Amino acid sequence: MRLILLGPPGAGKGTQAKYIVDKHAIPQLSTGDMLREAVAAKSKIGLRAKKIIDAGKLVSDDIVIGIVSERIDQEDCAKGFILDGFPRTLQQADALGDMFEEKGLELSCVVELQVNDDALVERVAGRFTCGNCGEGYHDKFKPPAKPTKCDRCGKEEFTRRADDNEETMRTRLRAYYKETAPLVGYYYAKGLLKGVDGMGSIPKIASEIDEVLNSL
Ligand code: ADP
Ligand code: ZN
Repeated sequence: MRLILLGPPGAGKGTQAKYIVDKHAIPQLSTGDMLREAVAAKSKIGLRAKKIIDAGKLVSDDIVIGIVSERIDQEDCAKGFILDGFPRTLQQADALGDMFEEKGLELSCVVELQVNDDALVERVAGRFTCGNCGEGYHDKFKPPAKPTKCDRCGKEEFTRRADDNEETMRTRLRAYYKETAPLVGYYYAKGLLKGVDGMGSIPKIASEIDEVLNSL
């Protein structure tokens, strides 16, 4: 199963991807995470990306596509994968289509998480992540059982993304509606789009996505 999770920042893509990973045993490929890993490792591509990410802008297509293509070739992606945060533009979607064709792969479906702007800003402003295992949390909507300790791995390494503030969020939302939202029509036209109401509770949305995936 090869899926794309589509939706604005804060829509719950990462959160829902974790459920799909557990249930369907396929990896989550988050370009954001892959890029941040490259930044942390101070690799050549990472240093190039850092300046752009810090300004709340999008990194160039060749950087992202190169990272995704290499990742898809790894063995744990043989049975499928979840793309979370990629593609972000029509050009990237076309490049991804070409890449799939070259590799002889087919996309199973695109799940679009629909969430209104006020909720997005609130979700992103309260978001934090375990630096050790990557589990996502929220101050209000998904607090850990103990304030400083990860429920999943027990480590005390919570981190907040530098770009998860209201100001950068506005820039990111504008970029989403301008650059990424056209993918909704793009994949609809290909018969691959499945819209899911992303305004409910996390488990409710997870079960709605599960219904979609089981019907494929
Ligand atoms: P994305 O990957 O789409 O940017 P995340 O999965 O990181 O979004 O979710 C953003 C924040 O909102 C996280 O802190 C997460 O815990 C929280 N969140 C995710 N889904 C919901 C939901 N359905 N209701 C409330 N908060 C949510
Ligand atoms: Zn953890």
